[in-house]
Amino acid sequence: MENSGVLQNMGRQALVVTGRGGSSRRNGSLEDICTALDKCHIKWELFDKVEPNPSVTTVMEGAQQAQISKADFIVGVGGGSPLDAAKAIAILAKNEITVDQLFAGHFEKVLPVVAVPTTAGTGSEVTPYSILTYSKIQNKKSIRSPYIIPAVAFLDPEYTFNIPMDTTVDTAIDAFSHAYEGFLSVNSNPISDLMALEALRLIGPELLLMARQVQPDQGNRQVLLYASLLAGMVISHTGTSVPHAMGYSFTYFKDVPHGRANGLIIPAFSRFILDKCPNSKMNLAWQAAGFTSLKDMADLLWSLTGTPAELTPEDERVFVNIASQAKNLANSPAIPDKADLAQILAITMNRQI
Ligand code: NAP
Ligand code: ZN
Repeated sequence: MENSGVLQNMGRQALVVTGRGGSSRRNGSLEDICTALDKCHIKWELFDKVEPNPSVTTVMEGAQQAQISKADFIVGVGGGSPLDAAKAIAILAKNEITVDQLFAGHFEKVLPVVAVPTTAGTGSEVTPYSILTYSKIQNKKSIRSPYIIPAVAFLDPEYTFNIPMDTTVDTAIDAFSHAYEGFLSVNSNPISDLMALEALRLIGPELLLMARQVQPDQGNRQVLLYASLLAGMVISHTGTSVPHAMGYSFTYFKDVPHGRANGLIIPAFSRFILDKCPNSKMNLAWQAAGFTSLKDMADLLWSLTGTPAELTPEDERVFVNIASQAKNLANSPAIPDKADLAQILAITMNRQI
């Protein structure tokens, strides 16, 4: 609350975007941000219809409300889903564009975004991405634009203190995958590597505790929120790669939460990189996170993710096809072709690393 003054110059009318499940009401984040807006004499309306993995339809509805209320800025409160929805609403409120133009980044003016994360995973509060579910292509698709990097982010670990264990695991694995994929990315640089190694160093021991069923305390929650912020800064430079590209199908078709989907695939992705690029920096990533080998990391991640739902041969064909079209495959130190992706999927399902 003592930082509410930074909202002062953002405008006179805000649209507050949050999740439909009511978690931001329960964890105090919604009340805090609304009180801060009131304190600054900023009028606001609420759009509280964002579902996990938000759809294009939902953000269009939110944009319409932003236009009608003449919002000067958008405040996203919640996990990655409401934050990503807030970013897309900020674009659509200012631009009469088609969905294809939205995903192609054909816009310049957007409303400023304020981000209040309540999960410790996506790092969306610092990234230039908004990831939406687009049923027309049966997949999730990213908007990438420097204009949607939030102008202001308020990070308060208190909002994350009561996240249920399954969401804590999902989101921690997401942050881990951002640091890991970003560290290995062909776009990594010495600064992104520093942040990635620090995030891995912080998240590795937290994952180990979760695997031992230890409930994170407030100190652990603070570490996770900070590490997810660092990992978000990493992917802002590097992008994600194969685990995200393939994970989206597990989410779209099998309802596997985003971070958990990445965790399923990271071991097989790592085996692929190890075979194709023996000189990759992978050992450094394992060392930083506290793992001794690929098997060590795979055992931990797979114990946290649980077993994935069965895939039919048709599912496998679709998953491979969709992943093979993902732009972020190009960020990987070795680019998998369809046969490689099929092999990565087979290892993921058989767990034979
Ligand atoms: P989420 O989809 O935002 O939320 C998952 C669930 O957790 C929802 O039911 C939500 O409830 C609940 N929740 C949120 N905060 C909570 C809290 N403090 N206490 C209790 N429950 C809470 O999950 P997420 O993993 O943070 O975000 C995933 C999305 O972000 C995916 O769409 C993914 O693709 C995207 N993503 C974006 C980026 C980026 O850079 N933009 C990076 C990675 C991932 P409510 O219904 O109340 O909200
Ligand atoms: Zn992610």
